[in-house]
Amino acid sequence: MKPLGPIPAGFAAIDGELAIAGRKASDLAAEAGRTPLFVYVRDRLDARVAQLRAAMPARLAIHYAVKANPFGPLLGHMTGLVDGFDIASAGELALVEAAGIDPACVSFAGPGKRDAELELAIIKGVTLNLESEREAERALAIAARVGLAPRLAIRVNPDFDLKGSGMKMGGGAKPFGIDADKVPALARRLVDADAQWRGFHIFAGSQALDAAAIIETQAQTLQLAARLAEEAGVALPRCNLGGGFGIPYFPGDTPVDIAAVGAALAERFAALPQVLRDTAFCIELGRYLVGEAGVYLTRVIDRKESHGEVFLVTDGGLHHQLAASGNFGTVVRRNYPSAIATRFDAPVEEEASVVGCLCTPLDRLADKGGFPRAEEGDLVAIFCAGAYGASASPMHFLGQGPAVELLI
Ligand SMILES: *Cc1c(COP(=O)(O)O)cnc(C)c1O
Repeated sequence: MKPLGPIPAGFAAIDGELAIAGRKASDLAAEAGRTPLFVYVRDRLDARVAQLRAAMPARLAIHYAVKANPFGPLLGHMTGLVDGFDIASAGELALVEAAGIDPACVSFAGPGKRDAELELAIIKGVTLNLESEREAERALAIAARVGLAPRLAIRVNPDFDLKGSGMKMGGGAKPFGIDADKVPALARRLVDADAQWRGFHIFAGSQALDAAAIIETQAQTLQLAARLAEEAGVALPRCNLGGGFGIPYFPGDTPVDIAAVGAALAERFAALPQVLRDTAFCIELGRYLVGEAGVYLTRVIDRKESHGEVFLVTDGGLHHQLAASGNFGTVVRRNYPSAIATRFDAPVEEEASVVGCLCTPLDRLADKGGFPRAEEGDLVAIFCAGAYGASASPMHFLGQGPAVELLI
């Protein structure tokens, strides 16, 4: 048997079934009208943000990176919890606007912004995190044409990366951000061009669990921001320190020690260099805020044996759960936390692989896990499904279409 990832705390059984926010999995599936479905839990979102705020210095604003989960009702709920939103396309801008979010608290990062996207963002008052010198010139030209002072920040490609992170976003040659040595001249250029100067955005990596690595990266980020602002001779109204806090997905993973991260950041904030004294700081998090608030439920359609191995064939799959199948930025396939939702408190009885309904060997949600014996009609739960599930999977592959999404 291969181990399964750790189920996030706070899930219990009612009548032997997995309960999500006090409601049985089978009742939620009935409410959705069909399977598979994603269930996102408001209370878990609230609790996560509250814990984070309690751990971090009050001066640190918390932004939500929309790409982790852009489901409309969830975005709407996040407006009451976080201080700002980070988007990566005009499509996401439309989603945040539809959720009633004020574009003034939105920033837009990401390479390859089209002219039409830059123009829309400038007109709406969104802050642009500029990814290249050419993009800066295009933004200034568009702003001059429409007669507005654009809100511009520079995304810095730092000289370091976030150690132990699942996806490195800084250090060396990168399509993201502007190399640190080119930043001071560009910052002066933006200030001289009478843009509304919004400072720096420095994002060094994603999915880090090691507090020491995050602490070191934040210290390096503050040093770099101070050095570049001094070299440029411009004040820094804002600085986005990136994020990268991960969640435990795999056997042996442990949660980020956010108390340690917050304490270290508070110390840094108490001893900031002059050039950062009046700077407003934020972090931007996606996965950490929403990942553990979501559960994916899929129904067993067939139970079969092949060469002595048990396969639970479900109506879900990698078209909704690309990451859980091990095909979204992972090198070695390991099992996400999963369970037979309709037999949640039953003991392990057999080794089984949970597969999806796509005809590709990649479509495996759990590989040789230990489960109670499941039959046709049982529901399987994949946990940590709140981030990079529905929106980061190829839902149209093989004509399958989207899963139902519920916010409860
Ligand atoms: C993807 C991304 C995020 C969110 O990353 P998480 O790992 O989900 O927290 C934040 N900022 C930028 C610039 C990103 O590209």
